[in-house]
Amino acid sequence: MSGNGRTIYIAGAGIAGLTLALALAKFGATVVVLERNKTIQEVGAGLQISPNARRVLNQLGLDRQIAAKSLEPSGIDIYPFRARRPLTTLALGPAMLERHGLPYSVMHRADLAGVLYRACKRFANIEIAFGVRAFDAESHARGVSVTADEADGKSRSARAFAFVGADGVSSHTRIDLLDGPEALYSGYVAWRITLPMADLHGAVAPDRTSLLFAPGYHAVCYPLPHRGQVNIALFAREKPEVAFGPAPPKSPKLPWAALPSPQFRAITEAAARSWGYWPVATISSKAWHRGAIGLIGDAAHAMVPYQAQGAAMAIEDAAILAPLLMTEPDAESAFARFEALRRPRVERVGKISAANGRVFHLEWPFTLARDAVIALRGPRGHLRRLDWLYGYHAAPEPDIVGPLRTASRGPER
Ligand SMILES: Cc1cc2nc3c(=O)[nH]c(=O)nc-3n(C[C@H](O)[C@H](O)[C@H](O)COP(=O)(O)OP(=O)(O)OC[C@H]3O[C@@H](n4cnc5c(N)ncnc54)[C@H](O)[C@@H]3O)c2cc1C
Repeated sequence: MSGNGRTIYIAGAGIAGLTLALALAKFGATVVVLERNKTIQEVGAGLQISPNARRVLNQLGLDRQIAAKSLEPSGIDIYPFRARRPLTTLALGPAMLERHGLPYSVMHRADLAGVLYRACKRFANIEIAFGVRAFDAESHARGVSVTADEADGKSRSARAFAFVGADGVSSHTRIDLLDGPEALYSGYVAWRITLPMADLHGAVAPDRTSLLFAPGYHAVCYPLPHRGQVNIALFAREKPEVAFGPAPPKSPKLPWAALPSPQFRAITEAAARSWGYWPVATISSKAWHRGAIGLIGDAAHAMVPYQAQGAAMAIEDAAILAPLLMTEPDAESAFARFEALRRPRVERVGKISAANGRVFHLEWPFTLARDAVIALRGPRGHLRRLDWLYGYHAAPEPDIVGPLRTASRGPER
């Protein structure tokens, strides 16, 4: 039987869960996704999709659909604090294509989730159960038993080959089924908003990403032209008692020093009080699996988003785990091999993300050294330094992929 007759349960229809479902279904597995929400989530805002993630998405046949919903910025304008002109523009666009053969693009999270969801719907061997109120999974010597309370008041019980928690930073799978750690608050909140481009009155470039540095906070802005919008994420320090308190703030309280910056002023004026609010948390979990239950994506290794790689890591995870689940003799060995392959890379990416945060948020006079180094590296310096990140092929060894057959219903339209 195609797919070895294996059934895999996945908790969470986010970026990790949907990518894994698609990859597994292409190998012929039967996949059931348990999602808490009633539909695919429209929340979130922009995502930067780097070549390492795009390589996987293209291998899943999604190149055209992603291209239709995304922009390939020509570069990243870096603005030191209060600067009216960028210090430098890091090359993306053609430079990234030339180096990696793949674009570096930006898109809305809901658009990426929509592309993945529509692709999943083309597979008869993927079932997505929405509105799941609770689930449980218990590992046995030969697989896992799963129970779930569904939206319609029914409950289901099933046996499966493996259970994968792709249920995000507050993962029930990690905390309750695997006795893993709670998320750790980073001390920063992400303020997110998408605004009509015209509201910024030309304060940020319409075809490039802008990265604005400031002491203790920073902002990332990029256009989403097919929505006529610009995506803004502003990261600022917040005390935990405020971030998680009964009355969290409605808008970022930037220090007075931010006001002379034309970009920060334009953003805060345009956004007024309609910001979304997201405490940034990380996960440091000693074990990503136990028996036939494992974790991927943010559930396993959420990181601060200062290298824009959380979703990219989730996408890579899916590409690595799917063939292992199809070829290893049991789920435990698939998860063990997955963790051995993935942990060093994910931890390295987590470390540079955290280091970026420290650099972005530096105070004067340390900013002088930072800005001098950035200027010295020039527009292409980051391409050389990040080859290991963007040039990564998330395909496991050929001995894994070779024997697998695919079970697509036909080309994605
Ligand atoms: C401000 C900000 C900017 C970012 N920018 C980027 C970027 O540019 N590029 C990038 O690669 N990454 C970025 N990230 C990180 C990225 O958003 C995450 O790493 C990524 O979304 C993780 O995907 P996931 O599928 O693991 O988790 P999620 O996207 O959180 O999905 C989890 C899913 O599980 C479901 N779920 C949760 N609990 C349950 C339950 N009990 N039962 C059933 N279902 C459940 C949820 O409803 C959801 O659908 C950013 C993050 C932030 C905060």
